Amino acid sequence: MPNFEVIIIGLGAMGSAAADHLSRRGLRVLGLDAHPRGHQLGASHGKSRFIREAYFEKPAYVSLVQRAYGQWRDLEARSRQQLLEITGGLWMGALDSPIVAGARLSAERHGLRHELLDSSEIHRRYPAFRIADDVWGLFEPNAGILKPEACVQAQCQQAEALGARLRFGERVLRWQADGTGVRVETADLSFTADRLVIAAGPWAAKVLADINLPMEAHRVYYLHCEPDQPERFATLPLWLIDWAPGVFYYGVPHRAGEGVKFGLHRASSACDPDIVDRAVSDAEIAEFRGAMEALLPGSSHQLLWAESCLYAMTPDTDFILDRHPQHDQVVFGCGFSGHGFKFAPVIGEALADLAMEGKSDLPIDFLKLSRCG
Ligand SMILES: Cc1cc2nc3c(=O)[nH]c(=O)nc-3n(C[C@H](O)[C@H](O)[C@H](O)COP(=O)(O)OP(=O)(O)OC[C@H]3O[C@@H](n4cnc5c(N)ncnc54)[C@H](O)[C@@H]3O)c2cc1C
Repeated sequence: MPNFEVIIIGLGAMGSAAADHLSRRGLRVLGLDAHPRGHQLGASHGKSRFIREAYFEKPAYVSLVQRAYGQWRDLEARSRQQLLEITGGLWMGALDSPIVAGARLSAERHGLRHELLDSSEIHRRYPAFRIADDVWGLFEPNAGILKPEACVQAQCQQAEALGARLRFGERVLRWQADGTGVRVETADLSFTADRLVIAAGPWAAKVLADINLPMEAHRVYYLHCEPDQPERFATLPLWLIDWAPGVFYYGVPHRAGEGVKFGLHRASSACDPDIVDRAVSDAEIAEFRGAMEALLPGSSHQLLWAESCLYAMTPDTDFILDRHPQHDQVVFGCGFSGHGFKFAPVIGEALADLAMEGKSDLPIDFLKLSRCG
């Protein structure tokens, strides 16, 4: 194998984005992923990912997501395909709920286009919803759906077109940083490079076992259902609703072949990503369909499929993006806590900056490991 300037561990959303950025900077890149290309064992599969600007979690993410919109459009142009569909988004809950109050704070602070709708206006615009009178919605016209499988594939292909070597089914068993370089070992092979980028998603705490990362893998799941009257659900925006403390249901409008998607955004409990039960149980499906019928009657008429996926949760649900505390030539991005996909190209850019320059001009200081104490 040739000598590489950068090795990337993990080629999901973040590692493939880093490969794209580093390759465009003219660097010799090797990417290694433990699983086959396009696998469904990590965090970057499932047909749709929300992108939204009125960021209820924290206004500090807004400028990063605005940069990501531009980079997704750029990736669309370079790969000659549509990856992002603007649908608008409706973020619902009590007026002082984390979703509505948080989205409003980001929208007002950053001057984003938005409308605040009371329950009667939500009913008038979207009669499919059955919501309580005290529910409000913040409508954001710029929200949309990213196609995760196509996005990751496009990032990989762009990197490969510029010479990156991407090897799948190649699990990194150990890595070490010696002098100014790094050595990475798989079952059969050993590679060296100047720099190492670790983007191992829900496995990050295993790959970075030496620094005791404050991050856990959590299993989550979602359903795709064909409604009784599909056309009633095709013109909905993306939606999120504050259901109970720390529990948010979300949904994606009806699309041919995919039905309506319905998921639950919440922390669950820590699991081992290598042995987690990936099947979705009948009881889990029944719980979801019950909630779906209460909120969108008729929407869960026929179950199409149910799938699980992994979140990489941090205690504060903010990402971790930093240099390794002991090794300057090793950088990592992890702990995307169920909301990282939309940022992938910007995370890739930040990882490339940190790896090659040791710093980044992007506003990512709030994501440093040291904040976790
Ligand atoms: C159901 C679900 C819904 C979500 N919805 C949204 C959304 O609407 N909007 C949004 O922005 N975000 C969303 N997210 C979060 C987002 O998808 C993730 O934050 C993002 O995909 C994380 O990407 P990643 O590259 O960190 O992880 P992954 O995609 O899991 O990639 C990590 C890769 O590392 C590889 N790897 C691990 N260990 C090793 C090793 N030792 N050697 C080699 N390779 C290794 C794995 O095989 C894997 O391919 C959602 C997540 C889930 C699960």
